[in-house]
Amino acid sequence: MQLIDRVVQFRADIEALRRDLHAHPELRYEEHRTSDLVAARLAAWGIDVHRGLGGTGVVGVIRNGSSRRSIGLRADMDALPIQEANTFGHASTHPGKMHACGHDGHTAMLLGAAKYLAEVRPFDGSVVLIFQPAEEGGAGAQKMIDDGLFERFPCDAVFGMHNWPGMKVGQFGFAPGPMMASGNQFHITVHGKGAHAAMPHLGVDPVFVAIQIAQGLQGIVTRAKKPIDAAVLSITMLKAGDATNVVPDSALLAGTVRTFDDRVTDLIEERMLSIAQLTAQAHGARAELAFDRYYPPTVNHAEQSAFAADVAAEVVGEDNVMRAVEPTMGAEDFSFMLRARPGAYLWIGNGDGAHRSAGHGLGPCMLHNPSYDFNDDLLPLGATYWVRLAERFLAR
Ligand SMILES: [Zn+2]
Ligand SMILES: [Zn+2]
Repeated sequence: MQLIDRVVQFRADIEALRRDLHAHPELRYEEHRTSDLVAARLAAWGIDVHRGLGGTGVVGVIRNGSSRRSIGLRADMDALPIQEANTFGHASTHPGKMHACGHDGHTAMLLGAAKYLAEVRPFDGSVVLIFQPAEEGGAGAQKMIDDGLFERFPCDAVFGMHNWPGMKVGQFGFAPGPMMASGNQFHITVHGKGAHAAMPHLGVDPVFVAIQIAQGLQGIVTRAKKPIDAAVLSITMLKAGDATNVVPDSALLAGTVRTFDDRVTDLIEERMLSIAQLTAQAHGARAELAFDRYYPPTVNHAEQSAFAADVAAEVVGEDNVMRAVEPTMGAEDFSFMLRARPGAYLWIGNGDGAHRSAGHGLGPCMLHNPSYDFNDDLLPLGATYWVRLAERFLAR
């Protein structure tokens, strides 16, 4: 592993900062303390700071030389509404809030890179440091784009990094195309007519209809889309009624749809609407579908993904670079940035949990788990990687 000596030298400082962020998690669009801290650090290192994009977003710009080329490096800053189970010294001091996705680590790694880049300036062009709010379901990336992120700070390419538990420390993962799925949620309300449960013929039973619809929906994934197109449809909520002897007026079915391609999402939404409406109609009921596409699929640009993988190979060796990881059905709002600019999203291995010591709750060390903790060994590695990526992209 080819870590930058200077970055290793100030690891303790970045680690203290990461643990401070971990102890003070803030939910989406409430990252005020975090954003103040990021802005103060950037300013102290002589970096131009711009605030207010996406509310609590922060952009730092480091310019050097005369080239107009520029690269965007993005970290997310928000935490999750989870009660932390860890009891170590830097555990969350905010009840019900926790950095369970490692965004504290992402912020710290990018700050580490910023410190070095501002100090040494080993490039010709501009490095745009993007600290975004609200990755966890708030589409903070899109909010920053709406606020003029790429008009005010043009980026020839943009890159995002996420820690990945289960992948070894020192390994990096890339994909030349889809890496994370689109996130879509649906709610189907079936309107029937309440009745005495012993006299169902006097009403229209929405529970019976909802069950027919639920069965039909799975047929979309197995029968209507091309087998080669990946998609999952999970019904996660089924709600109706309050008594054993009453047919209720309505029933609710809700859940999630994940795909890697908008055309597949289009097909699924269209069929869901037909199945819901026509099944309800067949039984004398009425159904409404609300289909909300909150994140598009995260699709890397092949050229930038290959470039980013080449840089990783220089840092950790080709053996530790996975150039075509199996995509996951999780979703990520960096997808919006990849729709606006060429670029790539990548994973940095967070290890198998060996860094977990006294004070950790029950395992496993998975993202969104109340016992999760970012592996601080990634701090110098992630910071080194960001530096090398910027250096190579903006080579003199
Ligand atoms: Zn997350
Ligand atoms: Zn995350």
